[in-house]
Amino acid sequence: MIVCKFGGTSVQDAQAMTRLAEIVKARHREQPIVVASAMGGITNRLLAMAQTAARGRRQEALDQLNKIKDRHFREAQKMGIATGEDWVADTLNGYFKEMRDLVRGLSALGELTPRITDAIASYGERLSTAVLTQVLENHGMPAQLIDARKCIITDDNFMHAAPLFDVTEAAIVEHLRPVLKQGKIPVFQGFIGSTREGITTTIGRGGSDYSAAIVGAALGVDDIQIWTDVDGIMTTDPRMVKEARRIKVISFDEAAELAYFGAKVLHPATIIPAVRRKIPVHVLNSYKPEQEGTLITDEAPPCENPVKAIAFKSGITVLNVTSTRMLMAYGFLKKIFEIFDHYKVPVDVISTSEVSVSLTVDETSELWDIVTELKKIGEVNVENSKSIVCCVGDNLRNIPGVPGIAFSALNDIRIQMISQGASAVNITFVIDQEKLPDAVKSLHGVFFRKIDPLIFE
Ligand code: ADP
Ligand code: ASP
Ligand code: MG
Repeated sequence: MIVCKFGGTSVQDAQAMTRLAEIVKARHREQPIVVASAMGGITNRLLAMAQTAARGRRQEALDQLNKIKDRHFREAQKMGIATGEDWVADTLNGYFKEMRDLVRGLSALGELTPRITDAIASYGERLSTAVLTQVLENHGMPAQLIDARKCIITDDNFMHAAPLFDVTEAAIVEHLRPVLKQGKIPVFQGFIGSTREGITTTIGRGGSDYSAAIVGAALGVDDIQIWTDVDGIMTTDPRMVKEARRIKVISFDEAAELAYFGAKVLHPATIIPAVRRKIPVHVLNSYKPEQEGTLITDEAPPCENPVKAIAFKSGITVLNVTSTRMLMAYGFLKKIFEIFDHYKVPVDVISTSEVSVSLTVDETSELWDIVTELKKIGEVNVENSKSIVCCVGDNLRNIPGVPGIAFSALNDIRIQMISQGASAVNITFVIDQEKLPDAVKSLHGVFFRKIDPLIFE
């Protein structure tokens, strides 16, 4: 059994969905389970529509909704689906009617809560998978649309809900096993779930990868395949550095680190369920299905290059907390972290001296509350528009001198923070956002001038 997850670009139109059907057909004997995202760009459009409605611009929001509707019907109809009164047309029409009601309600209320945001965002995946189920059927594969909200059971932290694993795994087995037994392909929405009470939630942007891994782990599949629009995990984002190379094989640890520090190709939580069950993950290109992609596995073979990939993320804020009162006093860090803990805001990079601590957080709406609390401990200075650049490789542990090479590559760039843990597989820099392209290109140049042909292509 395998899980095949298809991202937004892999379901974006009739052509992509047809390619998808061929990919699934070629793997039919391996008992695939399909997990799919919304059509590319649709989640953003739904969220924009919700905001327009909440600002009271009802007609504009309804026009946005109509565009979304036209696109779904147009692409479905190109494949002969939703042309008359078939079940797909009925399903889509039902969803659009519900969304029109939500838009009207929102424009009357004028307030967009996280809970309504999730209700609206969930339609993206529900629409795409309804069409997709019929696409598979039309290609001769019996398929069954599953309601992921009955399977992925989460807490009620709307927009970033956390799956409750015990109930979720049991629900997945309960809903999917009978479908698989009948020889049908389950078609499952990524990204969405519901609370125990049945209220729709989403598990964070880009979360379909995570959904796929959860389904795969619950069913103990042989392989989790993440089908996307690039050749696999690359040495860095190919949109930033066109010379980026494909990584043939990478460890779970390295991939987790890359994802956490911004490599969008994989949602950061994807690896967790896979590691727990030691299920290999493949990242593959849906435009070039014959290629081997990237294998993420428990233990990657040794690699001659110290760095395997470079990840980065922008929109970072640095907080510097200084307190001479705390000189030689213990409990300083504890107090600081209690504040972040209280607001449930994760800290990415940290560096400390005797009297000061620098920390990075993603830009967050809670920032000013956090700063107010921190000011009770010491002086606080806030710097916005920073980027984190993170060089990842298991081998960083073994090869000395890597920081030196990185520093020379970042010669003319002001480095604000550096962090490298003792056993860590990464070395991380915080720099000004505007210097990010130069920094990434320069680091990529020095670390991948020569490549180990066993690991990279
Ligand atoms: P999907 O919709 O299939 O989930 P995403 O857009 O979420 O696809 O992720 C794929 C994108 O991730 C690529 O188009 C690429 O620009 C970006 N990306 C960032 N870092 C990397 C990397 N190291 N390797 C491959 N792609 C990367
Ligand atoms: N459709 C969702 C998003 O755009 C989830 C995903 O694509 O993984 O974030
Ligand atoms: Mg994605």
